[in-house]
Amino acid sequence: MADPYFVEGLPEDLNEDHFVKATALDGYVKACAVRTTGVVRDALKYHGTSPSVTAALGRFMTASLLISENMKNEDDTQTTIIKCDGPVRGMTCVCDSSFHCRAYPVNNCIEGDEVPNVKAAVGTGTLTIIRDIGLREPYCGQVELKTGGIGEDFTYYLMASEQTPSIVALGVLQENGVVKHAGGMMVQLMPGYSDRDVDYLESRAKGFPDFTYFLDEGFTPAQILDLFLGDPGINYLEASPVSFKCTCSKEKMSSGLVALGRNELTELAEDDKGIDTECRFCNSKYHFTPEELIKLRDDA
Ligand SMILES: [Zn+2]
Repeated sequence: MADPYFVEGLPEDLNEDHFVKATALDGYVKACAVRTTGVVRDALKYHGTSPSVTAALGRFMTASLLISENMKNEDDTQTTIIKCDGPVRGMTCVCDSSFHCRAYPVNNCIEGDEVPNVKAAVGTGTLTIIRDIGLREPYCGQVELKTGGIGEDFTYYLMASEQTPSIVALGVLQENGVVKHAGGMMVQLMPGYSDRDVDYLESRAKGFPDFTYFLDEGFTPAQILDLFLGDPGINYLEASPVSFKCTCSKEKMSSGLVALGRNELTELAEDDKGIDTECRFCNSKYHFTPEELIKLRDDA
């Protein structure tokens, strides 16, 4: 018998991070789910985050990946930014159209942080989404944070900014400083939906366990969508591997330096040891000698 959960693009090993998209309720519902355990483990490795920051950044990356699903062109990018007054101070995540993402928190470590508390770590602030999809101007939307819990904040953004009623459920499960599971799902109503569809989804959402509970029980993202939607007509559309991937390079760092301007570059070149620059997303270091700085200045 054919595997009912098979869809083009799934990784061979379903325990690897991946994204899956489906439609249900006669096409009036679009549903996406993603496993991000490896992504969040990488973020923890790069940034040495304390438990609440791991949970906040993990949820933020998961939500960012979920809403990046409608980017189509190879060069499309989406940048999500939270600016907040909680101890994490802020987070930035960049996704491309192939489900690669990279992210960093402003403050990686909260003192005395033992039991993850995302809302306390984030507090109040704003959520900004910038989509560069090849138009003359990038699309930019911003909302106030609703609760700082990330899921509610993205739900609010999708309603306020994109007029799409959505359920966004996110989870990061940690055990003894290790990310055991991470992932989430986004279920959206499509134009033409009825009140019955709304009622149906609300009843399904009531008491539905955490996403990471199902991952811990061995369910795949596609199976979790199936459990949530409870619709025999569910139609899996596509899937894709997901990973933390930084795209930094010395060349890209150079353009950042050039943007500082001639005077600043001249000043930096006066230090005969040169300068070290560091990528905020993955901590890779790039060294520039005084000669290289002068060359950047003169070629600019
Ligand atoms: Zn990097």
